[in-house]
Amino acid sequence: SGRMIYYVTPTYPRPEQVPELTRLAHTLMHVPRLHWIVADDQPICSELVGNILKRTRLPFTHISSPKPFIYKSSNFPRGVANRRAALDWLHENVSEGVLYFGDDDNTVDLRLFDEIRNTEKVSMFPVGLIGDYGVSSPVVKDGKVVGFYDSWPGARSFPVDMAGFAVNVAMLREGATMPFVAGHEEDGFLRSLAVELADIQPLAKNCTKILVWHTKTVKHKKPTVKVDLDKLKNTGR
Ligand code: UDP
Ligand code: MN
Repeated sequence: SGRMIYYVTPTYPRPEQVPELTRLAHTLMHVPRLHWIVADDQPICSELVGNILKRTRLPFTHISSPKPFIYKSSNFPRGVANRRAALDWLHENVSEGVLYFGDDDNTVDLRLFDEIRNTEKVSMFPVGLIGDYGVSSPVVKDGKVVGFYDSWPGARSFPVDMAGFAVNVAMLREGATMPFVAGHEEDGFLRSLAVELADIQPLAKNCTKILVWHTKTVKHKKPTVKVDLDKLKNTGR
């Protein structure tokens, strides 16, 4: 069934991590010829994450690359050090196939995989639940990408979401990298590939269908009520 898809997922420890990865794992288990690269934002690979990976029986690579210490404050670029490590791994180990960046909390329709598998250079498609417009998408005219619809242009050449494109692994030459600049990770990466508008293949029925969503899970709040065990004993409960 065609080329291999390398699905790159950056992830980090928090209470939502296991449920997010469980849900994603159960999607990816339906996909043939998929290699899951999980890039852990930790000094060593998490056993919890490793166990989920093993249970999928998918071919996988589990690597760890923590964010640099300076990026631990707010509004830091999320998942960059670990995605970079995945790019290094691909550069060293893989010469053909398709790269896709799939965050641990996104929602993917299985039909997306049939679409991206034939990516020639770079393919693009709409992503649902992005910004004020509710969708981020290339604008297509006569079968060609002529611009972008995104609520935050941000002086970017390619104002797209991380989940809105796939890349032929053959495009990953020396110098292909992702910048540590919040909001510019996608644009910086695509620019580092020397991609031109004419190289972009619009998918999902000329970008009229949404097959992936930038879902976000509400963060679990730490419990504020402490249970007084002695009190419980005294009341005999
Ligand atoms: N991520 C990470 N380290 C972090 C924060 C996020 O590896 O410190 C990962 C996260 O697991 C997800 C991706 O980077 O796969 C994007 O992060 P998040 O979903 O928090 O960002 P948002 O979707 O809200 O922009
Ligand atoms: Mn997210």
